[in-house]
Amino acid sequence: MAGRKSRMIGCLLGGAIGDAMGYPVEFMRYAEIARYFGGAGVRDLSNGNLVSDDTQMTLFTAEGLLNAHQSGKSKVKSVYLSYLRWYYTQCGVKMPGAQYEGGLLNEANIFASRAPGTTCLSSLGSGRMGTIANPINHSRGCGGVMRVAPCAVFPHAFDLGCRIAAITHGHPGGYISAGALSSLLQKLYYGQSLPDAVSDLIEELDMIEDAESTRDALQHAVDLAAEGRPCAPTVKELGEGWVGEEALAIAVYSALSFPDDFPQAVRLAVNHDGDSDSTGSICGNIMGMLLGAGAIPIEWRDGVEMCNVIRSYAVRLSTVPQEP
Ligand SMILES: [Mg+2]
Repeated sequence: MAGRKSRMIGCLLGGAIGDAMGYPVEFMRYAEIARYFGGAGVRDLSNGNLVSDDTQMTLFTAEGLLNAHQSGKSKVKSVYLSYLRWYYTQCGVKMPGAQYEGGLLNEANIFASRAPGTTCLSSLGSGRMGTIANPINHSRGCGGVMRVAPCAVFPHAFDLGCRIAAITHGHPGGYISAGALSSLLQKLYYGQSLPDAVSDLIEELDMIEDAESTRDALQHAVDLAAEGRPCAPTVKELGEGWVGEEALAIAVYSALSFPDDFPQAVRLAVNHDGDSDSTGSICGNIMGMLLGAGAIPIEWRDGVEMCNVIRSYAVRLSTVPQEP
């Protein structure tokens, strides 16, 4: 069984790999992908090793959480300030409150513009931090869930994931899906099996206000995976992944369909009509956390953009003391 350090490295590198595999086909229908890449679609990183906003923002989540862990300040506020730094990398605009030196800003690649989500840009550019009580908008997009994997190592991961997503996404589907992913990843981090972790999560969502759509999407993923015919037309039954619950459901469905096989799970998660980089990224987070870094082909681990930066943040996260 993989150790926690290996799981966390797998989680963040896996997410980056799924993101990089999906990024070239984010806006392509499955028929176009098949025409362009052949019937099996995108298979590996040979079409590009570049990560997109999903991975960039995940790194800024990690940076904000680690800063708060060191300073003892509010995690959510610290992540918000870190997201203002991401906003600066994308727009060149320095919003008040954050500081704009050091850390991730020393990495030239983090400044690359890779189809950044418009909801994240407009929320952060407003100068106001969204919260669950005071939503910044009604966005249900998957821009929250795609970036919260680092929450998995901290106490109260569900609540933390929700609050961090609500900085930019005010609809329950946008932030509860993020809490759900954080909680799922935490269960896997502590060694639970994937079917047990998903089933416990669904039970927990039953008790939570406004969580019906996320719970139903996950149950649909479990039911479809049990039918055992993993393919793009089946993925389509879960939606296209542009909204939070659907992105999470497609990722979980892909993971449940190939629980022992990182490459196959991520290929299923990126080759479909919808938001391939986000569904690939979330599936990569889940599979890497489940199986550990050793289950990811070494040429992918060492080939994905910013792999050394990603690895170093994952190692730092894995040293956060355990107190679920
Ligand atoms: Mg993206």
